[in-house]
Amino acid sequence: MKANKSIVKAISVLEELYGVHIWKRKNPLDELILTLLSQNTNDRNRDNAYNKLRQCFPSWEEVRNADVGEIEEAIRTAGLSKQKSARMKVILNWVNDTFGELSIDAVRDMPNEEAIQLLTSQKGIGVKTAAVVLAFALDRDLCPVDTHVHRISLRLGWVEKKTSAEATYHAIQPMITENKSATFHLNLLKFGRNICTARSPKCGDCPLWTDCKWENKLER
Ligand code: SF4
Repeated sequence: MKANKSIVKAISVLEELYGVHIWKRKNPLDELILTLLSQNTNDRNRDNAYNKLRQCFPSWEEVRNADVGEIEEAIRTAGLSKQKSARMKVILNWVNDTFGELSIDAVRDMPNEEAIQLLTSQKGIGVKTAAVVLAFALDRDLCPVDTHVHRISLRLGWVEKKTSAEATYHAIQPMITENKSATFHLNLLKFGRNICTARSPKCGDCPLWTDCKWENKLER
């Protein structure tokens, strides 16, 4: 593992600020569908859509057999519901064909890279989504790179300018202290939502200001 002082410091500073997290683990397929719903929306709309979907269709078999229009209606609050409902059906059919059941529990026995490669073979499942499933349903020591983690990694200079989100994931993962990845991910989300926001970051309140390499950071 390559040590990265700035990442090690950020892990500790953000844990002091936001704490260490314990989350309610979902089964991997539930986590996958929840993460699909989270694309381009906030947590509240994602959760409302997920709960309505589960109310309308208590089993994944029922979702798989439902009309796309009915799924679309159930998940409308998550946005992009036409695209998400169509993908969900394709993914559930793929899961059923690949694993012989509506479960992706078989990935429990796979190493991270193999599981990510398999899951991302499906359109609509990117590296971030696959890493979220592994980290939060299967306790793998991974830090998925979403829009917040990507932006912060660029600003703090953990990766070169213009590095893609996927390349950022591969670059920073080996530099994160062992057993800290998932909490680090959740704390980066909080930091990205509250301080290092996409627009008008609150650099004056930033505990990582001295490490920040972003040319547009505000003076304090
Ligand atoms: S100084 Fe500003 S841009 Fe840099 S990490 Fe902190 S909040 Fe983000």
